[in-house]
Amino acid sequence: MNTAHVVSSREVVKLDGITHSFKTRLGGPAVQALRGVDLTITAGRSLGLVGESGSGKSTLGRVVTGLLQPTGGTVEILGRPVSGKNAMKRTPGSVQMIFQNPRASIDPKLPIWRAIAEPLRVGGYSSRRRDIDVLLDQAGLGSAYGDMYAHQLSGGQCQRVAIARAVAAKPKLIVADEPVSALDVSVQAQILNLLKDIQEESDTSFLFISHDLGVVRFFCDDVAVLYLGQVQESGSTEAILTNPQHPYTRALASASPTLLSAATGERIILAGEPPKPDNPPSGCVFHERCHQYLGPICTQTPPPMYPTDSGSARCHIYAPNTSD
Ligand code: ADP
Ligand code: MG
Repeated sequence: MNTAHVVSSREVVKLDGITHSFKTRLGGPAVQALRGVDLTITAGRSLGLVGESGSGKSTLGRVVTGLLQPTGGTVEILGRPVSGKNAMKRTPGSVQMIFQNPRASIDPKLPIWRAIAEPLRVGGYSSRRRDIDVLLDQAGLGSAYGDMYAHQLSGGQCQRVAIARAVAAKPKLIVADEPVSALDVSVQAQILNLLKDIQEESDTSFLFISHDLGVVRFFCDDVAVLYLGQVQESGSTEAILTNPQHPYTRALASASPTLLSAATGERIILAGEPPKPDNPPSGCVFHERCHQYLGPICTQTPPPMYPTDSGSARCHIYAPNTSD
Protein backbone atom coordinates (compact mmCIF):
# COMPACT_ATOMS: atom_id res chain seq x y z
CA MET A 1 0.00 0.00 0.00
CA ASN A 2 1.14 3.47 -0.76
CA THR A 3 1.12 5.32 2.57
CA ALA A 4 1.36 8.75 0.97
CA HIS A 5 -2.37 9.37 1.22
CA VAL A 6 -2.57 8.64 4.93
CA VAL A 7 -1.13 12.11 5.56
CA SER A 8 -4.07 14.21 6.66
CA SER A 9 -4.25 17.94 6.54
CA ARG A 10 -7.16 20.30 6.16
CA GLU A 11 -4.96 22.45 3.97
CA VAL A 12 -4.23 20.58 0.77
CA VAL A 13 -2.45 23.52 -0.83
CA LYS A 14 -1.09 26.65 0.78
CA LEU A 15 0.61 29.27 -1.37
CA ASP A 16 2.41 32.09 0.37
CA GLY A 17 3.75 35.07 -1.56
CA ILE A 18 4.28 33.16 -4.81
CA THR A 19 6.16 35.10 -7.47
CA HIS A 20 7.31 33.93 -10.85
CA SER A 21 9.44 35.73 -13.42
CA PHE A 22 10.12 34.34 -16.88
CA LYS A 23 13.53 35.34 -18.18
CA THR A 24 13.38 36.65 -21.72
CA ARG A 25 15.96 36.37 -24.49
CA LEU A 26 18.74 38.92 -25.03
CA GLY A 27 18.54 40.34 -21.53
CA GLY A 28 15.14 42.01 -22.05
CA PRO A 29 13.00 42.77 -18.99
CA ALA A 30 11.78 39.69 -17.14
CA VAL A 31 8.10 38.86 -17.47
CA GLN A 32 6.72 38.88 -13.96
CA ALA A 33 3.81 36.50 -14.43
CA LEU A 34 2.98 36.13 -10.71
CA ARG A 35 3.47 38.85 -8.12
CA GLY A 36 2.78 37.67 -4.58
CA VAL A 37 -0.05 35.12 -4.68
CA ASP A 38 -1.44 33.82 -1.37
CA LEU A 39 -4.06 31.08 -1.70
CA THR A 40 -5.28 28.14 0.34
CA ILE A 41 -7.38 25.17 -0.78
CA THR A 42 -8.76 22.92 1.94
CA ALA A 43 -9.71 19.25 1.67
CA GLY A 44 -12.61 18.54 -0.67
CA ARG A 45 -13.01 22.19 -1.77
CA SER A 46 -12.84 23.45 -5.28
CA LEU A 47 -11.23 26.82 -5.99
CA GLY A 48 -11.89 28.57 -9.29
CA LEU A 49 -9.11 30.72 -10.71
CA VAL A 50 -10.41 33.30 -13.16
CA GLY A 51 -8.94 36.25 -15.04
CA GLU A 52 -8.26 37.42 -18.58
CA SER A 53 -5.78 35.70 -20.87
CA GLY A 54 -2.21 36.44 -19.71
CA SER A 55 -3.19 37.08 -16.06
CA GLY A 56 -1.01 34.19 -14.87
CA LYS A 57 -3.56 31.41 -14.35
CA SER A 58 -1.63 28.67 -16.16
CA THR A 59 1.64 29.75 -14.58
CA LEU A 60 0.07 29.40 -11.13
CA GLY A 61 -1.37 25.99 -12.06
CA ARG A 62 2.09 24.81 -13.15
CA VAL A 63 3.65 26.09 -9.92
CA VAL A 64 1.08 24.15 -7.87
CA THR A 65 1.69 20.91 -9.79
CA GLY A 66 5.47 21.34 -9.56
CA LEU A 67 6.00 21.66 -13.32
CA LEU A 68 7.47 25.10 -12.62
CA GLN A 69 9.56 26.30 -9.68
CA PRO A 70 8.38 29.67 -8.34
CA THR A 71 11.04 32.40 -8.20
CA GLY A 72 9.78 33.40 -4.75
CA GLY A 73 7.39 32.36 -2.00
CA THR A 74 6.49 28.96 -0.62
CA VAL A 75 4.25 26.12 -1.75
CA GLU A 76 2.95 23.70 0.87
CA ILE A 77 1.19 20.52 -0.18
CA LEU A 78 -0.57 18.59 2.60
CA GLY A 79 1.26 20.68 5.18
CA ARG A 80 4.75 20.07 3.75
CA PRO A 81 6.84 22.73 2.02
CA VAL A 82 7.65 21.50 -1.49
CA SER A 83 9.14 24.53 -3.27
CA GLY A 84 12.82 25.39 -3.72
CA LYS A 85 15.20 22.87 -2.15
CA ASN A 86 12.27 20.68 -1.12
CA ALA A 87 10.98 20.28 -4.67
CA MET A 88 11.79 16.57 -4.67
CA LYS A 89 9.81 15.96 -1.49
CA ARG A 90 6.51 16.07 -3.33
CA THR A 91 4.34 13.06 -2.67
CA PRO A 92 4.13 11.24 -6.01
CA GLY A 93 0.64 11.33 -7.46
CA SER A 94 -0.84 13.62 -4.80
CA VAL A 95 -1.32 16.44 -7.33
CA GLN A 96 -2.50 15.70 -10.88
CA MET A 97 -3.15 17.99 -13.81
CA ILE A 98 -5.76 18.08 -16.56
CA PHE A 99 -4.88 20.29 -19.53
CA GLN A 100 -6.91 22.33 -21.98
CA ASN A 101 -5.88 20.30 -25.03
CA PRO A 102 -6.52 16.67 -24.07
CA ARG A 103 -5.17 15.15 -27.28
CA ALA A 104 -1.75 16.73 -26.80
CA SER A 105 -1.53 15.35 -23.26
CA ILE A 106 -1.85 11.70 -24.33
CA ASP A 107 1.12 9.83 -25.83
CA PRO A 108 0.01 9.13 -29.44
CA LYS A 109 2.21 6.03 -29.70
CA LEU A 110 0.57 4.13 -26.84
CA PRO A 111 -2.80 2.38 -26.77
CA ILE A 112 -5.08 4.32 -24.41
CA TRP A 113 -4.90 1.75 -21.64
CA ARG A 114 -1.10 1.95 -21.58
CA ALA A 115 -1.15 5.75 -21.66
CA ILE A 116 -3.18 5.58 -18.45
CA ALA A 117 -1.16 2.73 -16.92
CA GLU A 118 2.31 4.15 -17.50
CA PRO A 119 2.25 6.99 -14.93
CA LEU A 120 0.58 4.62 -12.48
CA ARG A 121 3.36 2.10 -12.89
CA VAL A 122 6.00 4.81 -12.44
CA GLY A 123 4.24 5.99 -9.26
CA GLY A 124 4.19 2.46 -7.85
CA TYR A 125 0.44 1.96 -8.22
CA SER A 126 -1.38 -1.03 -9.65
CA SER A 127 -1.43 -0.72 -13.43
CA ARG A 128 -3.05 -3.99 -14.53
CA ARG A 129 -5.37 -3.91 -17.52
CA ARG A 130 -8.42 -4.76 -15.46
CA ASP A 131 -7.78 -1.81 -13.12
CA ILE A 132 -7.49 0.46 -16.15
CA ASP A 133 -10.78 -0.91 -17.51
CA VAL A 134 -12.50 0.11 -14.27
CA LEU A 135 -11.06 3.62 -14.63
CA LEU A 136 -12.20 3.85 -18.26
CA ASP A 137 -15.65 2.73 -17.20
CA GLN A 138 -15.82 5.37 -14.45
CA ALA A 139 -14.84 7.99 -17.01
CA GLY A 140 -17.78 6.98 -19.20
CA LEU A 141 -15.75 5.02 -21.78
CA GLY A 142 -16.08 1.28 -22.35
CA SER A 143 -13.02 -0.93 -21.91
CA ALA A 144 -12.83 -1.31 -25.73
CA TYR A 145 -11.44 2.23 -25.82
CA GLY A 146 -8.36 0.91 -24.01
CA ASP A 147 -7.14 -0.66 -27.26
CA MET A 148 -7.56 2.51 -29.32
CA TYR A 149 -5.12 5.37 -29.88
CA ALA A 150 -5.56 9.09 -29.16
CA HIS A 151 -6.05 9.97 -32.84
CA GLN A 152 -9.06 7.63 -33.02
CA LEU A 153 -10.89 9.47 -30.22
CA SER A 154 -12.90 12.71 -30.21
CA GLY A 155 -11.75 15.67 -28.10
CA GLY A 156 -14.32 14.86 -25.42
CA GLN A 157 -13.24 11.19 -25.33
CA CYS A 158 -9.59 12.26 -25.03
CA GLN A 159 -10.52 14.48 -22.09
CA ARG A 160 -12.26 11.51 -20.46
CA VAL A 161 -9.01 9.55 -20.85
CA ALA A 162 -7.04 12.44 -19.30
CA ILE A 163 -9.52 12.54 -16.41
CA ALA A 164 -9.26 8.75 -15.92
CA ARG A 165 -5.49 9.09 -15.79
CA ALA A 166 -5.66 12.03 -13.36
CA VAL A 167 -7.93 10.26 -10.86
CA ALA A 168 -6.13 6.90 -11.07
CA ALA A 169 -3.63 7.63 -8.29
CA LYS A 170 -6.38 9.04 -6.05
CA PRO A 171 -4.80 12.50 -5.90
CA LYS A 172 -5.54 14.96 -3.11
CA LEU A 173 -5.66 17.77 -5.64
CA ILE A 174 -6.47 18.03 -9.33
CA VAL A 175 -5.36 21.15 -11.18
CA ALA A 176 -7.63 21.50 -14.21
CA ASP A 177 -6.48 24.22 -16.62
CA GLU A 178 -9.41 25.24 -18.87
CA PRO A 179 -10.50 21.56 -19.05
CA VAL A 180 -13.54 22.20 -21.25
CA SER A 181 -12.53 25.32 -23.21
CA ALA A 182 -11.32 23.37 -26.25
CA LEU A 183 -14.43 21.16 -26.43
CA ASP A 184 -17.70 21.58 -28.30
CA VAL A 185 -20.35 23.24 -26.15
CA SER A 186 -22.49 20.09 -26.23
CA VAL A 187 -19.58 18.05 -24.81
CA GLN A 188 -18.55 20.63 -22.21
CA ALA A 189 -21.52 19.88 -19.95
CA GLN A 190 -20.83 16.12 -20.05
CA ILE A 191 -17.21 16.60 -19.03
CA LEU A 192 -18.14 19.09 -16.32
CA ASN A 193 -20.68 16.61 -14.96
CA LEU A 194 -18.04 13.87 -14.91
CA LEU A 195 -15.69 16.14 -12.95
CA LYS A 196 -18.52 17.11 -10.62
CA ASP A 197 -19.26 13.41 -9.93
CA ILE A 198 -15.59 12.84 -9.09
CA GLN A 199 -15.61 15.87 -6.83
CA GLU A 200 -18.73 14.69 -5.00
CA GLU A 201 -17.71 11.05 -4.66
CA SER A 202 -14.15 11.67 -3.42
CA ASP A 203 -12.48 14.18 -1.13
CA THR A 204 -10.30 15.42 -3.97
CA SER A 205 -9.77 19.19 -4.02
CA PHE A 206 -9.68 21.11 -7.29
CA LEU A 207 -7.85 24.14 -8.58
CA PHE A 208 -10.13 24.86 -11.50
CA ILE A 209 -8.79 27.37 -14.01
CA SER A 210 -11.32 28.95 -16.33
CA HIS A 211 -12.11 32.23 -18.04
CA ASP A 212 -15.80 31.24 -18.05
CA LEU A 213 -17.56 32.52 -14.94
CA GLY A 214 -20.65 30.41 -15.67
CA VAL A 215 -18.52 27.24 -15.55
CA VAL A 216 -16.84 28.39 -12.34
CA ARG A 217 -20.23 29.09 -10.78
CA PHE A 218 -21.34 25.53 -11.57
CA PHE A 219 -18.19 23.86 -10.33
CA CYS A 220 -16.39 25.88 -7.65
CA ASP A 221 -17.02 26.50 -3.94
CA ASP A 222 -14.60 29.43 -3.87
CA VAL A 223 -13.14 31.74 -6.44
CA ALA A 224 -10.00 33.87 -6.80
CA VAL A 225 -9.75 36.58 -9.46
CA LEU A 226 -6.31 37.08 -10.95
CA TYR A 227 -5.14 40.25 -12.73
CA LEU A 228 -1.55 40.81 -13.83
CA GLY A 229 -0.34 37.99 -11.60
CA GLN A 230 -2.09 39.24 -8.47
CA VAL A 231 -5.24 38.06 -6.71
CA GLN A 232 -7.66 40.99 -6.81
CA GLU A 233 -10.62 39.39 -5.07
CA SER A 234 -11.42 36.10 -3.39
CA GLY A 235 -14.24 34.51 -1.44
CA SER A 236 -17.09 32.06 -1.85
CA THR A 237 -18.24 31.72 -5.46
CA GLU A 238 -21.84 32.55 -4.64
CA ALA A 239 -20.90 35.75 -2.80
CA ILE A 240 -18.31 36.92 -5.32
CA LEU A 241 -20.35 36.23 -8.44
CA THR A 242 -23.66 37.58 -7.15
CA ASN A 243 -22.15 40.53 -5.30
CA PRO A 244 -18.69 41.28 -6.71
CA GLN A 245 -16.84 44.01 -4.83
CA HIS A 246 -13.66 44.64 -6.81
CA PRO A 247 -14.20 46.88 -9.88
CA TYR A 248 -12.37 44.30 -12.04
CA THR A 249 -14.60 41.44 -10.88
CA ARG A 250 -17.65 43.66 -11.48
CA ALA A 251 -16.52 44.23 -15.04
CA LEU A 252 -15.85 40.50 -15.62
CA ALA A 253 -19.21 39.50 -14.13
CA SER A 254 -21.07 42.13 -16.12
CA ALA A 255 -19.63 40.62 -19.32
CA SER A 256 -21.23 37.25 -18.48
CA PRO A 257 -24.85 37.07 -19.74
CA THR A 258 -25.93 34.81 -16.88
CA LEU A 259 -24.38 36.99 -14.18
CA LEU A 260 -24.95 40.47 -15.57
CA SER A 261 -28.15 41.40 -13.73
CA ALA A 262 -27.09 39.89 -10.41
CA ALA A 263 -23.67 41.49 -10.55
CA THR A 264 -24.20 45.07 -11.59
CA GLY A 265 -27.35 45.42 -13.68
CA GLU A 266 -25.36 47.13 -16.42
CA ARG A 267 -22.57 46.14 -18.74
CA ILE A 268 -19.20 47.59 -17.70
CA ILE A 269 -16.84 47.87 -20.65
CA LEU A 270 -13.20 47.25 -19.74
CA ALA A 271 -11.24 49.98 -21.48
CA GLY A 272 -8.05 49.05 -23.34
CA GLU A 273 -5.92 45.96 -23.06
CA PRO A 274 -4.46 44.42 -19.89
CA PRO A 275 -1.05 46.00 -19.18
CA LYS A 276 2.08 44.05 -20.08
CA PRO A 277 3.59 42.15 -17.14
CA ASP A 278 7.10 43.41 -17.98
CA ASN A 279 5.94 47.01 -17.46
CA PRO A 280 3.22 47.03 -14.78
CA PRO A 281 1.42 50.25 -13.79
CA SER A 282 2.37 51.95 -10.52
CA GLY A 283 0.04 51.77 -7.52
CA CYS A 284 -2.98 49.56 -8.13
CA VAL A 285 -2.22 47.44 -11.21
CA PHE A 286 -5.84 47.87 -12.37
CA HIS A 287 -6.10 51.68 -12.03
CA GLU A 288 -5.72 52.48 -15.75
CA ARG A 289 -8.87 50.54 -16.63
CA CYS A 290 -10.89 51.14 -13.48
CA HIS A 291 -14.39 52.64 -13.65
CA GLN A 292 -14.32 53.36 -9.90
CA TYR A 293 -10.97 55.19 -9.85
CA LEU A 294 -10.68 57.18 -6.63
CA GLY A 295 -7.71 59.48 -7.30
CA PRO A 296 -3.96 59.69 -6.71
CA ILE A 297 -3.98 56.94 -4.08
CA CYS A 298 -4.82 54.46 -6.87
CA THR A 299 -1.87 55.52 -9.04
CA GLN A 300 0.58 55.80 -6.14
CA THR A 301 -0.13 53.14 -3.53
CA PRO A 302 -0.57 49.40 -4.21
CA PRO A 303 -3.63 48.37 -2.19
CA PRO A 304 -3.49 45.34 0.14
CA MET A 305 -6.37 42.86 0.38
CA TYR A 306 -9.17 44.33 2.51
CA PRO A 307 -12.17 42.47 3.96
CA THR A 308 -15.44 43.06 2.08
CA ASP A 309 -19.05 41.85 2.28
CA SER A 310 -18.17 39.04 -0.18
CA GLY A 311 -14.71 38.00 1.03
CA SER A 312 -11.69 40.19 0.39
CA ALA A 313 -10.62 42.57 -2.35
CA ARG A 314 -7.42 44.40 -3.28
CA CYS A 315 -8.98 47.86 -3.64
CA HIS A 316 -8.66 51.18 -1.80
CA ILE A 317 -12.46 51.52 -1.75
CA TYR A 318 -12.46 49.02 1.12
CA ALA A 319 -9.77 50.66 3.24
CA PRO A 320 -11.17 51.08 6.76
CA ASN A 321 -12.12 54.71 7.36
CA THR A 322 -9.39 55.92 9.67
CA SER A 323 -10.89 59.39 10.18
CA ASP A 324 -13.56 58.21 12.65
P1 ADP B 1 -3.07 32.74 -18.50
O1 ADP B 1 -3.05 31.27 -18.30
O2 ADP B 1 -3.87 33.49 -17.45
O3 ADP B 1 -3.52 33.15 -19.87
P2 ADP B 1 -0.17 32.56 -18.37
O4 ADP B 1 0.14 32.05 -17.02
O5 ADP B 1 -0.11 31.61 -19.50
O6 ADP B 1 -1.59 33.32 -18.34
O7 ADP B 1 0.83 33.77 -18.71
C1 ADP B 1 1.10 34.83 -17.80
C2 ADP B 1 2.13 35.77 -18.41
O8 ADP B 1 3.38 35.09 -18.49
C3 ADP B 1 1.79 36.24 -19.81
O9 ADP B 1 2.24 37.56 -19.96
C4 ADP B 1 2.61 35.29 -20.68
O10 ADP B 1 2.92 35.91 -21.90
C5 ADP B 1 3.84 35.06 -19.84
N1 ADP B 1 4.45 33.73 -20.07
C6 ADP B 1 3.85 32.53 -19.90
N2 ADP B 1 4.70 31.52 -20.17
C7 ADP B 1 5.88 32.11 -20.53
C8 ADP B 1 7.18 31.62 -20.93
N3 ADP B 1 7.42 30.30 -21.00
N4 ADP B 1 8.14 32.54 -21.21
C9 ADP B 1 7.90 33.86 -21.14
N5 ADP B 1 6.72 34.38 -20.76
C10 ADP B 1 5.72 33.53 -20.46
MG1 MG C 1 -3.71 29.70 -19.51
